[in-house]
Amino acid sequence: MTEMKTEIDTLVIGAGQAGVAMSEHLSRLDVPHLVLEKNRIAEAWRSGRWDSLVANGPAWHDRFPGMAFPECAPDSFVAKEKVADYFVDYAKKFHAPIRTGVEVLRVERNSGRAGFTVQTSEGVIEAQRIVAATGPFQKPVIPAIAPRSDRLKQIHSAEYRNPQQLPEGGVLVIGAGSSGVQIADELQRAGKTVWLSVGPHDRPPRAYRNRDFCWWLGVLGMWDAAASQPGKEHVTIAVSGARGGHTVDFRALAAQGVNLVGMTQAFEGETVTFQPDLAHNIARGDASYLALLDAADAWIARNGLDLPEEPEARHFLPDPDCVTHPLSELNLASAGVNSIIWATGYVADYSWLQVDAFDEKGKPQHHRGVSAEAGVYFLGLPWLSRRGSTFIWGVWHDAKYIADQIAIQRQYQSYQTAPHS
Ligand SMILES: Cc1cc2nc3c(=O)[nH]c(=O)nc-3n(C[C@H](O)[C@H](O)[C@H](O)COP(=O)(O)OP(=O)(O)OC[C@H]3O[C@@H](n4cnc5c(N)ncnc54)[C@H](O)[C@@H]3O)c2cc1C
Repeated sequence: MTEMKTEIDTLVIGAGQAGVAMSEHLSRLDVPHLVLEKNRIAEAWRSGRWDSLVANGPAWHDRFPGMAFPECAPDSFVAKEKVADYFVDYAKKFHAPIRTGVEVLRVERNSGRAGFTVQTSEGVIEAQRIVAATGPFQKPVIPAIAPRSDRLKQIHSAEYRNPQQLPEGGVLVIGAGSSGVQIADELQRAGKTVWLSVGPHDRPPRAYRNRDFCWWLGVLGMWDAAASQPGKEHVTIAVSGARGGHTVDFRALAAQGVNLVGMTQAFEGETVTFQPDLAHNIARGDASYLALLDAADAWIARNGLDLPEEPEARHFLPDPDCVTHPLSELNLASAGVNSIIWATGYVADYSWLQVDAFDEKGKPQHHRGVSAEAGVYFLGLPWLSRRGSTFIWGVWHDAKYIADQIAIQRQYQSYQTAPHS
């Protein structure tokens, strides 16, 4: 899109939704900048997700404020390719200076002069400021308990594409956040025998009293909550936009034929053991579900809204046998399990960013994305400023704040003392 420059004020690394949002706000404030992307714009939405994935939030919600999804009903759930196309079109709309196919290999602070030296796959760039927009979900994590087995096909959810990719036989899906539950559901519907290992999770209702949960979290101020509750930082949210969107209901999954098990504990030979926590994890998910219904009811009452009552939302199916009599272990060979999908999340990788902005565990140190190292900014991280920070619309607001901070710093730097008269 633009010629590579060797000197730039602000260099944004990554052109996912975070990088595109950052570029929009920097453009608005006339901050000279360049975005480098090692693949294509919004690559994660194209090649880093399974084939049938649709956005978890409705089209009216999971988007930037400046543009609606073309030809999509507001309440529909947009297919992943269309989400990627959206960011490409969005970037074109304001002529975002994005250079694709260029990887940033190393960033180092200059010594004795301002700014950073950036090694890229296409040469060296000098930048005054760096925005790391390389994504919250960079490196798939498979826990160390994964068995060493030539017999089992093991993949991370990041590599899962469709049921045909797996060998014949049963599948153990480990992790029941949005990815794990959707993949387990898809595999079971494709005729596979599925075991789903369920850990702690929140599971909001897809919709309640005629409003999607995205709307409820918005009006209740929960997307904007500034910090997660202690102990709940890593609790995954199980939601799904698949098949028109539905509430993730573990009892319904069990009734459909998915075998629920507790957290996966260990593997020994062909035997996998599970923690005795399935009922507890499901009860905890139910509690989060009911708490949102309660908050919604209270909000409706307080504001005198005329939204239809929905008492049936509080009726649960009976606990299935796999919950009341949970499996403590499973022999994978005897059960015919030939594959394992690890839906166990991701970590960030900032090995390319050699600056003083990380704690001893390698975690970025920042306040709302403004890092401990002057001139370095982070965007798109979980809870960067709020619950919504990793989501499409949330990152747009974080990018706005960071662009403001950059403009403020540029103003200080451009200050000149008045000439003596
Ligand atoms: C399965 C799944 C489903 C999701 N569904 C939704 C949803 O429905 N709604 C929603 O709002 N959010 C959703 N999210 C969360 C989030 O929106 C996405 O993860 C999104 O891709 C994050 O955008 P990002 O720009 O922060 O990071 P990314 O999309 O990961 O973009 C970062 C970019 O940086 C590039 N990059 C990395 N390192 C370098 C380097 N060294 N040099 C140059 N370029 C580099 C990468 O190639 C990548 O394109 C989902 C996440 C997952 C995992």
